[in-house]
Amino acid sequence: MMAQYLALKAEVADCLLFYRMGDFFEMFFEDARAAALCLDIALTARGEHEGEPIPMCGVPIHAAEAYLARLIKAGHRVAIAEQTESPAEAKKRGSKSVVARAIVRVVTAGTLTEEALLDSRAANWLVAVARAGELYGLAAADVSTGRFELTSVAAPALDAELARLSAAEIVAPEPFDALQGQPLRQRCDGFDSLSAERRLKERFGVATLDGFGGFDRAALAAAGGLLAYLDEVARETLPFLQPPLGRAADGHMMIDAATRESLELSVSASGTRAGSLLAAVDRTVTGAGARLLAADIGAPLLGRPLIEARLDLVSLFAGDAGLRDGLRRQLKALPDIGRALGRLAAGRGTPRDLGQLRDGLDEARRLHDRLAARADPPMLFAELLPTLVGHGALVDLLSRALVPSPPIDTAQGGYIAEGYDSALDDLRATGGEGRRAIAGLEARFRQQTGIPTLKIRHNGVLGYHIEVPAKHADRLMAADSGFTHRQTLAGVVRFNAPDLHEQALRVGQAGAHALAAEAAHLEELVAAALARAHAIAAAADALARLDVAAALAERAAEGGWCRPHFVDHNCFEIEAGRHPVVEDALRASGERFVANDCGLSEDGRLWLVTGPNMGGKSTFLRQNALIALLAQAGSFVPAAKATLGLVDRLFSRVGASDNLARGRSTFMVEMVETAAIIAQATERSFVILDEVGRGTSTYDGLAIAWAVVEAIHDRNRCRCLFATHYHELTRLAERLDALSLHHVRAREWKGELVFLHEVATGPADRSYGLAVAKLAGLPPPVLARARSVLAKLEEGRAATGGIAAGLDDLPLFAAALTQEEAAPDPLLAALAEIDADALSPREALDAVYRLKRLAAEQSGP
Ligand code: ADP
Ligand code: MG
Repeated sequence: MMAQYLALKAEVADCLLFYRMGDFFEMFFEDARAAALCLDIALTARGEHEGEPIPMCGVPIHAAEAYLARLIKAGHRVAIAEQTESPAEAKKRGSKSVVARAIVRVVTAGTLTEEALLDSRAANWLVAVARAGELYGLAAADVSTGRFELTSVAAPALDAELARLSAAEIVAPEPFDALQGQPLRQRCDGFDSLSAERRLKERFGVATLDGFGGFDRAALAAAGGLLAYLDEVARETLPFLQPPLGRAADGHMMIDAATRESLELSVSASGTRAGSLLAAVDRTVTGAGARLLAADIGAPLLGRPLIEARLDLVSLFAGDAGLRDGLRRQLKALPDIGRALGRLAAGRGTPRDLGQLRDGLDEARRLHDRLAARADPPMLFAELLPTLVGHGALVDLLSRALVPSPPIDTAQGGYIAEGYDSALDDLRATGGEGRRAIAGLEARFRQQTGIPTLKIRHNGVLGYHIEVPAKHADRLMAADSGFTHRQTLAGVVRFNAPDLHEQALRVGQAGAHALAAEAAHLEELVAAALARAHAIAAAADALARLDVAAALAERAAEGGWCRPHFVDHNCFEIEAGRHPVVEDALRASGERFVANDCGLSEDGRLWLVTGPNMGGKSTFLRQNALIALLAQAGSFVPAAKATLGLVDRLFSRVGASDNLARGRSTFMVEMVETAAIIAQATERSFVILDEVGRGTSTYDGLAIAWAVVEAIHDRNRCRCLFATHYHELTRLAERLDALSLHHVRAREWKGELVFLHEVATGPADRSYGLAVAKLAGLPPPVLARARSVLAKLEEGRAATGGIAAGLDDLPLFAAALTQEEAAPDPLLAALAEIDADALSPREALDAVYRLKRLAAEQSGP
């Protein structure tokens, strides 16, 4: 047996091997150690291998799914070796033969279909990445629903694509730099475009791929790698794939990983779904709808017609609450037919999955009838509604064939309905008669033996048998009693009898035949469903789209959101905009969110926002980025009115000290990310920069922020909101035409600071830093001290013109590219450090000497 085990293990060296033994999956050697640790189960030993006991642990078959889930989550891959013959068959081959086993499947994070292992509201992507010349090809498959996308992107956009997909597993021929930190699986074969093309044609039974839209070499190579990997992990039953969908990388708003993270699109800063934009927007009532909404928000569109088509659909449901409610009630009762189909196609379907198709498709038709009756239908109806009908024959077949709620487990049978197959009905009747006869035997045997506690029981080992308490057993033990002894246990003794045996045989045979008949029907029914796999998948997609539209309409109605209006120039005009997540949070604590306008245009495209800490700058920046994103995803937006030109790329950067928890050289990260914006933002992009430059010293930070604002203004010329605590930056307004100054308002009232959260024009009059510190509970003596230091510093500023003095004279950005930054004056710095009030006469004298020395050094040789 060990030889067989080791041979199988060698096939899948990088996986844990689940080795089927009876009712358990066993693991051995290092696998056992790793699994015992991860699952917190007992590690035992068995036999010997090369003189050492073999470590071993196991999980029972019936609970295997839960254990699998934990191993996969912990990053393992698990190969499943099943018995491919029965012990009886093995015996026939020879008394010592080991039961034949084979690896039937490799379970990996990216190829799951099991309901229990998947999040019903999130897609589960397996992504293959290949490189051809300057391009990266990406092939992404969600085998739980069969979704399959191909795209190719230039190197700088790879990160954004990967961030959008947030893959459960990635395969690549080599560890590209861009894949660092991703759940990467490396393999080298399959990634060539020629064999990929052949594989794709075979797989989809077509002579040319042109019908799918045509793909470049990079995308094809990635597809080849993906299919090869699926072949390897799925073994015999290939998972379901719909025809590949070409995804033009330039058809979507580009949003890189840092932006997604900082805008908290699908996960909040604390790593949860709660607190994310998605959670604040999501009112879908089906798993498929939730998955589609996440995809929409992750990839806002760039094409006006498609955006307007989505918005039309939302408008219809927003304007008709009765229609919306009815639709949502219907959708809510729908099973997840996309995933049921995925399981059936992967060979892991159950009668319940077929039942779900039956119920889902039947409901889809009713939904169609409700919507098709609308006068003045939105454009998307023409595409969506036809997919919901035409499944009648399959629904009829499944309705006739299956019981109302079919089970997951087939072992007990009972899922094929009465009346579907008369032979099966006869077998069941025979079995039923036998069972009734057996029940009758119990009464007869009691009477015959005079033992009122005699019982007829059934178990897996003995089958039907007679059981009496030990104290009555003697009567049945007698040779002429008509009973044969089978087993003696502590309190009871078990017997058989010829009549019982005969009936049991009848029941057993009928049962076995019935099971076989049901299994044969199941196979036919699955085949009938899979013959319509693509039509079913299309219906599932259409239902998801309807759910998303109705959900967005519901959200809009709840929050008073408006339909965004798109124009052809690069403007961004928002009236009374709000931040959906912050607004929700405030409402929960009974507070009101203050709505704010924003108005960017081609010649007023950069807003510099100043104001006290906690004043609402970050919130204002983000709410506008989120509005742009929601609008292009086809959603209404949290504002009274929104007019905007399409945004091709969205960037959000937050000054490093907001992100200290990440534990990297955060200033470095901030600069790398800022560099990416300056390299990539176009005139159509939208950028928010939140306190960039604050991760370093004041001088450096101000200098960097200054240069970045100039670059964004002069070179990128994109729409930009820039929040800063460097008051000095407001001087830029004098020189940069398209830049205007704004601030979040605050007021000191009776010595207390009151935030108004209102965005107003002009620079902030002061920074209120001390007031904020007071609010934060800094002790009074420390505050008093800070106040006197501040007064000194401000005196210094009045005298010298402040730290930004002289910057006005700097040549403009383009000319300044080659200029070195000016070093700060050490003499002034030393002077500023002196707190005159705190000096003794002696210390004051020392200070004067020190300053004179500094002055001498500076004017020296
Ligand atoms: P800043 O970036 O200026 O330090 P934030 O945007 O982080 O300020 O906002 C601080 C807090 O103020 C938020 O957590 C929120 O509770 C509140 N706040 C921000 N904007 C608003 C608003 N428009 N209306 C009401 N409260 C707001
Ligand atoms: Mg802030």
